[in-house]
Amino acid sequence: MGLLSLGTPLAWNDAKKHADHVREHGITQFLHIWDRLKERHGDELLWGDEVEYMVVTFDNQERNAKLSLRQSEILAKLQKIVDDIACDCDNQSLPTYHPEYGRFMLESTPGAPYTGSLSDLLCVEPNMRTRRHIARKHLKPNELPITLTSFPRLGVPGVFTEPHFDPSDATSSHSLFLPEEITNPHARFPTLTANIRRRKGSKVAINLPLFIDRNTPRPFVDPTIPWQRNIYPEDPEAKNGAALIDHVYMDAMGFGMGCSCLQLTFQACNVTEARRLYDAFVPLAPVLLALTAASPLWRGYVADVDSRWDVVAASVDDRTEEERGLKPLRESRFRIPKSRYDSVSLYISDNWMNRPEYNDIDAPYDAAIFERLKEHGIDTPLARHLAHLFIRDPLVIFSELIDQDDTTSTDHFENIQSTNWQTVRFKPPPAGSEIGWRVEFRPMEVQPTDFENAAFAVFIVLVSRAILHYSLNFYIPISKVDENMRRAQRRNAAREEKFYFRKDVFPAGVPSPLSTPLSSPHSSGASSPIESNGVNGNIHHKPRKLQNCFGEVPKPETSDVFGPIEDEYEEFTLDEIFNGKGDQFLGLLGLVRAYLDTLEVEASELLRIREYLDLIEQRSNGK
Ligand code: GLU
Ligand code: MG
Repeated sequence: MGLLSLGTPLAWNDAKKHADHVREHGITQFLHIWDRLKERHGDELLWGDEVEYMVVTFDNQERNAKLSLRQSEILAKLQKIVDDIACDCDNQSLPTYHPEYGRFMLESTPGAPYTGSLSDLLCVEPNMRTRRHIARKHLKPNELPITLTSFPRLGVPGVFTEPHFDPSDATSSHSLFLPEEITNPHARFPTLTANIRRRKGSKVAINLPLFIDRNTPRPFVDPTIPWQRNIYPEDPEAKNGAALIDHVYMDAMGFGMGCSCLQLTFQACNVTEARRLYDAFVPLAPVLLALTAASPLWRGYVADVDSRWDVVAASVDDRTEEERGLKPLRESRFRIPKSRYDSVSLYISDNWMNRPEYNDIDAPYDAAIFERLKEHGIDTPLARHLAHLFIRDPLVIFSELIDQDDTTSTDHFENIQSTNWQTVRFKPPPAGSEIGWRVEFRPMEVQPTDFENAAFAVFIVLVSRAILHYSLNFYIPISKVDENMRRAQRRNAAREEKFYFRKDVFPAGVPSPLSTPLSSPHSSGASSPIESNGVNGNIHHKPRKLQNCFGEVPKPETSDVFGPIEDEYEEFTLDEIFNGKGDQFLGLLGLVRAYLDTLEVEASELLRIREYLDLIEQRSNGK
C-alpha cells in the first residue's frame, strides 16, 4: 500500500508545516512527467494482480487460530529463497512478495507483468498457486497464508496474535483492542497510524451495524468494550459516543488496513485510453465489490454488512471535525465529504461520452492547484482530478526527503497520490522507469481460493478489453455510483439489492454486438471485429492477443446524441448486469464472450476461460 521510503518520519506537528511544500513540488513533479510523456503512445498491454494474505498460526493445543506476527522474518526468508532460485534458473517471472500494513500480512505479485498473450491469462491461476505454495512452504508447519478479507477475531479480548501482546501498548493508534505490534514496524506504518489520529484530533471510529437475530440482547451494549478504562486522553470517547450501541465498534487503522483485497493494474496504450478505462471502471467498482463481498465477521461478531469497504474508509479517515462539517471552517481549508479511502468522486476522461453532468457530487478541489494545472495546458477533467486529490495533506514525511530534484523524483507526487485510496486509481508513469500510463482496479475483496481470485482477475482483464474494443459507455452519475457503493456492502447485496447501471452501453452510432454484423467504425486497424466475428469474417484475421490500442471513439455528427441523464440508467439486479437483461442488455459476461469471439482462442484455452466465466455467472445468478 504505497511507497516505502526510508528515513526519519516527522510527527504530525512537524509534518504539517511541510504540507504545502509537498503539494507544490508534487504537482511540479507531475508536470514534468506530463510534459515528457503526455504524447507517449503505443504501449502494449501489460498487467498484473496483487493478492494480499494473512498468515495464520494454528495452535492445536489451545484450539485457537491466531495471526502470526512474523511478517519481517517471513519476507526476508522469501526474498532469499526467490533470489536463490533466480540465480539458478534466471527465471524472470518468479513471484515477488511485499509487506503490507498488518504485521501478519503478506502481499504477492507475479514477478513480471503479464502481457496481452492469451496464454498469459491461463498463467494467472498457476502463478497464484505457486505464490501461495512458495510462501506456505517457507512458513512454520502450523502456519498458513490464507486469503480471507477480514480476520474474524482481530481485536477480540484474549489471544488473537502469536506472540500475544497487550493492547495497552498501542502508542500509535491508542486502540483499546489492537496492540502496537499489529502494525508493520516499517516507520511508514506507525507514523501513518499516529498522524491520521493526530490530524483528525481523535481516534478513528468504525461502527458496523450488528447482525441482529432473536438471540441478540437488545439494546446491544458491547460487553467487550472497556467502557470505564481511560488509558489515553481520547478514551472517554468510547463512553461519550464514539462507540454506538447495536454496532461492532472498532477504533484503529489496523481493523481496516489489516483487510485483504485483490487488485489489478493495467498499462494503457496512452494517457487518453488510461483515462477512458479509469472512467469505465468507476461504475463497475460497486458491482464487483458486491459480487466479491467476503467479510461478514468483525472483532468476533457477525455484522449486518459483508464487505470491508466502509471499515477501511473509516480506519484511515483523517478529516478534522471542520472538514467533516461538524464545525464551521476555521483552520481547515475545505469541507470534505469523503475519507481518503473511498469511492471515486470525479470522472476524468476528456472523451465526448463523459458528460460534465455525470460529475454530480461535491468533490472539493484546490483552486490554486487547478489554476496552475490549467495554465500549464492540462484539460479541465484531469486538472480537477489532481486538484481534488491534492486537497489532502501528506501524512508521512521523511525529513531526509523534503528537498528533491523534481525533474527526476516523483516522491512528493506519490506521497499524496498513494494515500488517496479510491476504488480506481489513475497512475502516471513513475520517474526513471519504462512503465507507461496505468489504471488500477481496487474494490474487489480477496477470495479464499486461487481459482476464484484467478477467475475475477481474468474476468476484469477481459472486461477491460471489451470496454476498449467496443468503446463501451458505462457512464452514470457519480451520485448513483456512490449509492451503489452503499448498497454493495449490505448483507447479501449480490442477491437482494439492485444497482444503478447504464441501459445502453454502446456509444451512439455503434450497434450492439447482438445485432450482427458487428461494425466498429472507430477501430484502429488490427482487430476490426467485422473481419473477425466468425460470421462474415475470415478466421485467420482474428488476433491471438489482447489488444491495447483502440483509437478514439468519434463523436456522432447528429446533435441529439444526448437525452436527459435520468433516461440513461435504471436499476438492475446483479444477475441482469452480468448475465443480461432480455433484449436490452447483453450483460457484462455477454460482452466478454462477444469480445472473446473476436480473438483466435484455442479450444483448450477457451475451456479454461469458460470455467472462470462460469464462476462469475454462478456468483451473479445466485447458484
Ligand atoms: N488492503 C487494502 C484493501 O483491502 C488495500 C491496500 C493497498 O492499497 O494495497 O483495500
Ligand atoms: Mg496492498
